[in-house]
Amino acid sequence: MTRTPLMAGNWKMNLDHLEANHLVQGLAMHLRDNNHDYDKCEVLVIPPFTDIRTVQTIVDSEELNIKYGAQDVSIHDNGAYTGEISTAMLTKLGCTYVVMGHSERREYHSESDQLVGAKARKVLDAGMTPILCCGEALEVRKAGTHVEFVLSQIRAALENWSAEDVAKIVIAYEPIWAIGTGETATAADAQEVCGAIRQALAEDFGAQTAESTRVLYGGSANPGNVKELMAQPDIDGALIGGASLKAESFAAMCGFYA
Ligand code: PEP
Repeated sequence: MTRTPLMAGNWKMNLDHLEANHLVQGLAMHLRDNNHDYDKCEVLVIPPFTDIRTVQTIVDSEELNIKYGAQDVSIHDNGAYTGEISTAMLTKLGCTYVVMGHSERREYHSESDQLVGAKARKVLDAGMTPILCCGEALEVRKAGTHVEFVLSQIRAALENWSAEDVAKIVIAYEPIWAIGTGETATAADAQEVCGAIRQALAEDFGAQTAESTRVLYGGSANPGNVKELMAQPDIDGALIGGASLKAESFAAMCGFYA
């Protein structure tokens, strides 16, 4: 497989900068103890904005192979946008990934597919990798229309994108009913949607792009279920909330290949 698996820890609104320091030091230690092979799994932490400078300092000073990114970004370059953070501010801090379209932002900040697509565009243009989240609510899953729903979110966000650009992004499928609930989609449920995403990418952007684009699963992924999820042919990693807040469990998940 040419797609390097990615384990991405989304800290959400947890941990101040001192706690962030502690977690990254602990993560580095556990990865070292486990002889982590970064060619077999890329490791990414996604802290709150206020922690990023601290994470950068540790990563740089200790020459860690851990990548870091942001949970959101503005579509504007600068100016009168109180509370927003630009792509330039993130690249200056060494961020290489940015999440957009997380269900919590879609729900609490009314983010549309179009805005999510514009954020992804902005991030890619700034030289970082977008992690574009999608996923259905429980009612949609119960109605059996989850695949169409998820594909429509992705297609709306990536409308008019080139195949070359789509190949550079990461898509994270996160069924809302599985986020932070302890209720994981079965590996077969996750594969069904991740496989459909890859199939749709092949139809819309060609087989080569579909082969290159990484598709992650997210939703109560943990050290106990990660191996089975990662054994699925169209799952290239995980976006991990709760289990990424403990250095040992996150490091264990990064070592799923062992
Ligand atoms: C997430 O918020 O992206 C997530 C997957 O959270 P959790 O792992 O806690 O379900």
